[in-house]
Amino acid sequence: MMRGMAQAVKRAYKYRFYPTPGQAAELGRTFGCVRLVYNKALQERTRAYTLDGHRVSYEQSSAALTAWKQTEELGFLNEVSSVPLQQALRHLQAGFANFFAKRAKYPVFKSRKKSRASAEYTRSGFRWREGRLWLAKMDGPLDIVWSRPLPEGAEPSTVTVSKDAAGRWFVSILVEEKIRPLDPAGSAVGVDAGITALVTFSAGEKVANPRHERTDRRKLAKAQRALARKAKGSANRAKARITVARVYARIADRRRDHLHKLSTRLVRENQTVVIEDLTVRTMVKNHSLARAISDASWRELRSMLEYKTQWYGRELVVVDRWFPSSKLCSACGALQEAMPLNVRTWECACGAVHDRDVNAAKNILAAGLADK
Ligand SMILES: [Zn+2]
Repeated sequence: MMRGMAQAVKRAYKYRFYPTPGQAAELGRTFGCVRLVYNKALQERTRAYTLDGHRVSYEQSSAALTAWKQTEELGFLNEVSSVPLQQALRHLQAGFANFFAKRAKYPVFKSRKKSRASAEYTRSGFRWREGRLWLAKMDGPLDIVWSRPLPEGAEPSTVTVSKDAAGRWFVSILVEEKIRPLDPAGSAVGVDAGITALVTFSAGEKVANPRHERTDRRKLAKAQRALARKAKGSANRAKARITVARVYARIADRRRDHLHKLSTRLVRENQTVVIEDLTVRTMVKNHSLARAISDASWRELRSMLEYKTQWYGRELVVVDRWFPSSKLCSACGALQEAMPLNVRTWECACGAVHDRDVNAAKNILAAGLADK
């Protein structure tokens, strides 16, 4: 890519919105129909594939949908917008394409409880005018909370509406944007993932977890204990489940915000960012909540770094999972035999005294630059 040339990238902007009772009912029906169409098409594809090794195409699924709509039993599918139903079939098609190319597992059924309720609208399924959004079959525009502005003159190409386990409604708007790479920077950074600190940089700085996270985690643990005490199937249990989902959603939102700021800063300040492959950490068998949350953030941070380095003309280097970043002295290169997790600082035979995480980050940087 030529330096300084703007490239067009698709970017999603996600907002909360508050549906009217009519819109909520319409969307609830749509979510149900999307799930039904997806599951029914999956069932038919599975039958065709297992019985006679036949691969069903998108066009065939689409023709089947038209036929279902004409039956008395499934005639209600005509009551919702056809766009999200077609999109469900496109997603299923992509799922099978990935499966046949050995990139993904066999597609699974969408369950009412476990899968997130959502509906995707392409251009023909919504109207966008002067910053207001109307979905097909709806009388008024959505009441969106514009927590950050859409880029000037943005034209949405896809709109996805969803509802999470905490009962909150979201709309994700996909727009095409022109992004110009940053001027080249001279520096490179190694990033070590931690639990006590979120990440540590090779230059020595430690970035803490988001504010309030300790308190929120305590609240989450408390809400989970309360949920466990409620009788199965009771109204109180349903209420307790929503409380858990709310606290969890708040933690995830604050984390994401924090990770966006962190990844943007890393990419702005450095030409090369070196990280470790996450899978090295899954070798540590520790199923604590803190661990699960920190692993999830690390995956999210990595994916943000992947697309932001690409957008801004930077480079991301991922160091091999077997690289012993913690056990190596970054001053003399001597390898320590063991480095238990509780050791926070240590002294090498060469006399260097190391902070465990800073030393690991330095090694990660060196390994990444050597790999190039
Ligand atoms: Zn040493």
